[in-house]
Amino acid sequence: MSTDQNSMQREQMSQGVMSVGEGTRIFPDVEACIDCGGCVVACKRTWDVPPEEQRISISTMFEGQEAEKPQLNSNSGRALNQGEFPGETSFPMQCYHCEDAPCVSVCPVDSLQKNDDGFVEVVEDLCVGCQYCLSACPFGAPQFPESDDGAEAVLGGGGIMDKCTMCEERQHVGKGPACAEECATDAILVGDAGDIADELDKRDAAPAFNKEAMEIIFGADEARAFDL
Ligand code: SF4
Ligand code: SF4
Repeated sequence: MSTDQNSMQREQMSQGVMSVGEGTRIFPDVEACIDCGGCVVACKRTWDVPPEEQRISISTMFEGQEAEKPQLNSNSGRALNQGEFPGETSFPMQCYHCEDAPCVSVCPVDSLQKNDDGFVEVVEDLCVGCQYCLSACPFGAPQFPESDDGAEAVLGGGGIMDKCTMCEERQHVGKGPACAEECATDAILVGDAGDIADELDKRDAAPAFNKEAMEIIFGADEARAFDL
């Protein structure tokens, strides 16, 4: 793609989507999330996700509460990193397509694989529904819509794993993930580690995850882009 096309494409994107395609990551700015559910609806509408399944969900903690230190009220990520009480914080939770993906390491049948774009994909024909990936994922991303029954899971009948695909098909035609493009407050950032770190800096926001989680998502080298 030419430089002109790239900049035109970038202008058409929302501020949350900074680049698409190979090597991009998806990451939440918890300061910006207002728990409106727009991303959840966009994902379901785009991929016809059944009602009982969520490829993205919003997890809100300390609802209605203020941060202990007033100066941290609008910066939950910084408060969490400083071990301070952050007040109400909403996390858009989904698969972050981790660089060092624990789910890929534990899958006994190689159903979870890193593809050429660096996204973690599910090879449905191989999945035996053992739910090892659910235990390994620090972010609760794997979904098993056909069964939540523990016994079935142990016996390998827990249904095929499903999760966020990073809207790879959309990215191949220059669009961002549907959740990120729909988000009215640009709370879902898409880009490489440097893009995401710069954008958080510009917003005077901080990553809401600790160093260990950031190294899982971005890899130890790329995680250095963040002020952790
Ligand atoms: S659309 Fe954006 S603001 Fe709304 S819940 Fe999702 S991430 Fe949060
Ligand atoms: S560990 Fe979880 S968030 Fe990371 S790639 Fe696997 S399913 Fe996605």
